[in-house]
Amino acid sequence: MQIIDLSLPLKGYGPEPDPPKIKYINHKMGALLLGLGALLCKGNSLVSHLKNFSLYLSGKYRLSAKDFPDKLGIALEEIKTDTHAGTHLDAPWHFGPTSEDKPAKTIGEIPLEWCYHDGVRLDLRHKKAGEVITVEEIKTAVEGINYRIKPDDIVLVMTGWDKFANSKQYLNHPGMSAEATLWLISQGVKIIGIDTFGFDRGWAAMFDDYIKTKDKKYLWPAHFVGRAKEYCHIEKMANLDKIPQPYGFKVICFPINIEKAGAGWVRAVAIIG
Ligand SMILES: [Zn+2]
Repeated sequence: MQIIDLSLPLKGYGPEPDPPKIKYINHKMGALLLGLGALLCKGNSLVSHLKNFSLYLSGKYRLSAKDFPDKLGIALEEIKTDTHAGTHLDAPWHFGPTSEDKPAKTIGEIPLEWCYHDGVRLDLRHKKAGEVITVEEIKTAVEGINYRIKPDDIVLVMTGWDKFANSKQYLNHPGMSAEATLWLISQGVKIIGIDTFGFDRGWAAMFDDYIKTKDKKYLWPAHFVGRAKEYCHIEKMANLDKIPQPYGFKVICFPINIEKAGAGWVRAVAIIG
């Protein structure tokens, strides 16, 4: 069995407008925090907290690195970010409050069965920055691999844009059209993944067309398909070219369950054999 990582890491730098802020707490600082945390677990009244804090200040109830094996506590990290940083699954709630006239599913309401299915990779690497992927191009890509999309397939749209993940070019990418998205949904697909910054084309390309025309159809059209037809998409995938065949593999993309959220991070993988 071979497992291919189809995910980008969460990291504190990069071309995104607001990259995650990651505070790294080393093993020495971690020892102090363990001591403080232990004090907070001791008693649950304000009086007991005040008493414990005075014991901490007096040094009687305090831990430092020297109290731990090898004079090292534990390392941990604090992250300030949004749910769309790194590789993640967008749930229907992200697209709008309702989907198919029912309350839209939040990330914790996505059936996990949707997230473990046969994968199909479609090659759209000829698409250029800011271009729309049309329904004809999706159909041609499916025909090109002699495959027939079946219900619940997890379809991976490969543009190759993950190679720009550390440059500004990453933000200026091709993306799915509403028609192409609807066609895949009509085949019974519930999850579509793409290796770009967003499922729709780059924000600037959409914004330019909207400003020129004032036509709302230019703004996130593939996302808004999710109000009429229930589906999810994975954004910021990576390494789709590392999957050795266009089908005949499984995809796993279970999202982190963030209460009432419209998206959750995934460690998406392809499994061969
Ligand atoms: Zn997203």
